[in-house]
Amino acid sequence: MQIPPISPEFSSRVQHGVSMAKHTSWHAGGPADLFFVPRNAGDLAGFLRQLPAAIPLLWVGLGSNLLVRDGGFRGAVIQTHGALGVLERISATRLHVEAGVPCARIARQCVKWSLGPAEFLAGIPGTLGGALAMNAGAWGGETWKHVVEVDVLDRRGLRRTRPAAEYTVGYRSVTGPVDEWFLAARLEFERQPGLNMDGIRELLDRRKQTQPIGEWSCGSVFANPPGNHAARLIETAGLKGFRIGGASVSDKHANFIINHGTATAADIEGLILHVQRTVEATHHVVLRPEVCIVGEPA
Ligand SMILES: Cc1cc2nc3c(=O)[nH]c(=O)nc-3n(C[C@H](O)[C@H](O)[C@H](O)COP(=O)(O)OP(=O)(O)OC[C@H]3O[C@@H](n4cnc5c(N)ncnc54)[C@H](O)[C@@H]3O)c2cc1C
Repeated sequence: MQIPPISPEFSSRVQHGVSMAKHTSWHAGGPADLFFVPRNAGDLAGFLRQLPAAIPLLWVGLGSNLLVRDGGFRGAVIQTHGALGVLERISATRLHVEAGVPCARIARQCVKWSLGPAEFLAGIPGTLGGALAMNAGAWGGETWKHVVEVDVLDRRGLRRTRPAAEYTVGYRSVTGPVDEWFLAARLEFERQPGLNMDGIRELLDRRKQTQPIGEWSCGSVFANPPGNHAARLIETAGLKGFRIGGASVSDKHANFIINHGTATAADIEGLILHVQRTVEATHHVVLRPEVCIVGEPA
């Protein structure tokens, strides 16, 4: 991509050709043309105001639900993690949390403030921004059950606050105004006196027993179809352990695809397609990928 000039205020802080393999939990994928970590929300608004409108944007939290193809991303990646990190209590039961805050930190802080139920967030290895975009959830908990309102930023750097009612929220899906991204949210919890870290420890232990935690993955690749489990459909289609290049379907949890160290994004995407086709041929069910796939093929 021909990169138009960036204003001098930002040009020294914009990196070029940053490998997205370093910023995704699958550790695969090609380079981003531009990569920017803002200092705060105001700095990010200023960056977007001067960025030519034709440059596509990709907001990234911890990259734990993201596959960037091997040819990389022709545009600007905005990394919120390590940038938008404010987490504060603004009333007895309400928090103001910026998009770059890890979900696990919210879960732990809620326990310290005797607020819940937030334990489900502890095992989600992403940021609040990613959790808002995906309606991340686990063990019956869901991000948007707690959202009162969100602060968003549009492509021209304009900030707005929107009530949760302006979004259509479903299982791992959120639809709202286009070309806007989440800066922060007000989250509401209940007072739960006597909470301690045991609840979080228990949920993390349960995960370790059933999921290949510690290996390079993006968690569950496919959403569960209504009344069914993607993992069960994949396992009974005989796909556990099936491998393409450096990627395979996990032996421990069939809805996880593992990068064993050398997988390309093409290996992973090829495996996603193979699983989808095989499950459709075997069970007549079309699995919907939960992971976001972006960028150009090599
Ligand atoms: C081991 C493992 C276990 C997992 N378990 C679960 C689970 O139990 N439940 C679950 O729901 N998920 C789970 N996930 C998936 C993932 O952690 C969640 O989807 C998480 O919410 C993604 O957050 P992130 O910051 O990593 O988002 P990213 O992967 O960085 O981005 C995901 C998507 O959100 C968009 N996005 C990111 N930030 C913003 C923003 N500020 N505004 C607008 N859009 C944004 C990105 O553009 C992209 O489209 C798991 C992943 C792993 C690796």
